[in-house]
Amino acid sequence: MSLIASPPRATSPAQAPPSVGNATALVCRECGERQPLTAGYVCAECFGPLEVGYQLPALRRAVIEAGPQSMWRYAPLLPVAPEITERGGLQPGWTPLVRADRLARELGVRRLWVKDDSANPTHPFKDRVVAIALEAAERLGFGTVACASTGNLANAVAAAAARRGLRSVVFVPSDLEAGKIVTTAVYGGTLVAVNGSYDDVNRLCSEVAAEQDWGFVNVNLRPYYAEGSKTVGYEVAEQLGWRTPDAVVSPVASGSLLTKVDKAFRELAATGLVEATPYRVFGAQATGCSPVAAAFRAGHDVVRPVRPDTIAKSLAIGNPADGPYALDVVRRTGGAIGDVSDAEIVEGIRLLARTEGLFAETAGGVVVATYVKLLAQGLVDPDAETVLLNTGDGLKTLDAVAPVARPTATIDPSYAAFTATGLED
Ligand SMILES: *Cc1c(COP(=O)(O)O)cnc(C)c1O
Ligand SMILES: [Zn+2]
Repeated sequence: MSLIASPPRATSPAQAPPSVGNATALVCRECGERQPLTAGYVCAECFGPLEVGYQLPALRRAVIEAGPQSMWRYAPLLPVAPEITERGGLQPGWTPLVRADRLARELGVRRLWVKDDSANPTHPFKDRVVAIALEAAERLGFGTVACASTGNLANAVAAAAARRGLRSVVFVPSDLEAGKIVTTAVYGGTLVAVNGSYDDVNRLCSEVAAEQDWGFVNVNLRPYYAEGSKTVGYEVAEQLGWRTPDAVVSPVASGSLLTKVDKAFRELAATGLVEATPYRVFGAQATGCSPVAAAFRAGHDVVRPVRPDTIAKSLAIGNPADGPYALDVVRRTGGAIGDVSDAEIVEGIRLLARTEGLFAETAGGVVVATYVKLLAQGLVDPDAETVLLNTGDGLKTLDAVAPVARPTATIDPSYAAFTATGLED
């Protein structure tokens, strides 16, 4: 959340800074005020959101290449070092960057890639942000970790907390997909289903966080949590041979991932790991929850909250905390933000599955379909080497495609019945 009514506790049970690396302070994104690396998340001066600031040294590619095959290979660019994680974490990251030639040919574009983050331990990119948040939580002395989630974060927190032996309390909207309730509850933590939208859940969690000494990964630990998303950008660049693509298309829920991919590209250039070349960042939303796309089209700097109504539940944040920052990034880089209907989302999922053998969740369908639409509108260059971010796994949102993903035929077990279908060559 970018603004709250009163300043939060800026300290934590242990009071110890979580950093041992190159992070130096929590820095206000609005006024630049610096605070120590504790569980603070709102500027004491102006109530603006805080993010982790660094003193980044020049880095060598070979050192990173020799690191673990996980997001922790980028530890020098993250706010926590990986010692605790190496003992017991789930090791997210280093997911495949898949060359999508068949999809590219179908769309008439030159070179296309899919960053397939469904390959993470609980199958969304959220495992990355949770790894950082729980690392910070343990260093700050929190024994209980919590979150407000649209589903995938709940999965990731419950799993990572189980792995580390931490207590977890996760809050979700009660109308979540069954696939996300089951894949959270199975890890044995506390799962609270709230009769309300994600934005109601998030508000409730701000209240709970003010009263309980819990590490809320996306509330009082949000500055650390958000840094985990940078590793998507680092990996894309390293997997392209240490260069940034011409364009990247990111889904937008709170807007954090989109802004952090940009932060990652800028840091890679600043540390000398890649040459600074121009890139455009594009955002993708479901029309049923498209406040950032609407603000982009209207030329507004502020994002007017909406009440979400879409099958893309993992993106259903009606009041996105990082919406204005996502707008900044997209405008600064010359990108755009588009949105697609639920029917187009389903078509996007099927198109990616049919052409590349990748089954994305609804958020991935939003990205593919938005890319198709932006191409048609001439807002993205078909000659630009483009990376589509697939952030989740289709197995968690089966209901979205179940009506259109049916058997070709259902027959009796006889050859006569088979030939009667007309399916034989
Ligand atoms: C959370 C989530 C996103 C978007 O995350 P933000 O950083 O909040 O914009 C995208 N895709 C999936 C599958 C997610 O779970
Ligand atoms: Zn400030």
